[in-house]
Amino acid sequence: MSSPQVIRTVAGLRDALEPARRDRRVIGLVPTMGFLHAGHVSLIEAARERSEIVVMSLFVNPAQFSEGEDLDSYPRDEQRDLAMAAEAGADIVFAPSAEEVYPAGFSTHVAVEGLTDVLCGDPSRRGAAHFRGVTTVVAKLLNMADPDLVFFGQKDAQQAIVIRRMARDLDFRAEVVVMPTVREPDGLALSSRNAYLDESERERASALNRALETAHSSASSGVDGALDAARAVLADAGIEPEYLEARYADDLEPAQNFNGRPVLVAVAARVGRARLIDNVVIETE
Ligand code: AMP
Repeated sequence: MSSPQVIRTVAGLRDALEPARRDRRVIGLVPTMGFLHAGHVSLIEAARERSEIVVMSLFVNPAQFSEGEDLDSYPRDEQRDLAMAAEAGADIVFAPSAEEVYPAGFSTHVAVEGLTDVLCGDPSRRGAAHFRGVTTVVAKLLNMADPDLVFFGQKDAQQAIVIRRMARDLDFRAEVVVMPTVREPDGLALSSRNAYLDESERERASALNRALETAHSSASSGVDGALDAARAVLADAGIEPEYLEARYADDLEPAQNFNGRPVLVAVAARVGRARLIDNVVIETE
């Protein structure tokens, strides 16, 4: 295992990738905000399998945090991230400063309409501005690295759907690859924000996945029945969800039933100081 090359400027990244691009080698990009865990590692490993050059970006993107969110306290440990990225097989870690990504006078944004008004994008929640921050930075990363493949996690299901739509609508040439959610043994989805949980919160947090599994196994009771059953599991753990909703996985319209189209059941809830999200896709005949 050799250490990845750490690059901090867009020009440096383009220079480093130039030989690979000239030789038509497959470039895979894994965007992250760092504080790596096994979920990120699974994306790097998937990129390693399918690409000849693996770039991991490490950038805590201020544009996707709103006032009052956890930008300043977001966990960071670059040395540990570099070691884990190397171990997982990244060739290049692109870790730019905020000034490199958003130079003075920055005034251009990419926004996906409709899909970003619901679930986390609802105005009473993180809002569409969160996704505008995500799509803008991902569009920029795609322009900077110009990868053949770009990897995201199903853990952030709405983000993956929004990015797929952006890539299609704006003709980015990268193939968007979405990998399954990596979980703790008790089902809790790995997240950098799990670092905020104390021991008892950590235990309660596993109810999110249990609730989604309950929704899945109650699908024969219809959408309302399945959501009621899931809500009861959350209530048992003392968790009042910010939302628990069933929406069609392709267009995020409210799901009427589980007959045919894949349905995304998504939950967001605050546990202690962590805002956690998780989801399951229910596919029935
Ligand atoms: P983040 O650093 O939280 O922005 O996440 C970077 C990428 O890792 C995103 O594509 C996430 O969806 C993905 N990711 C985060 N947690 C997990 C997980 N538990 N399993 C799989 N992918 C994940």
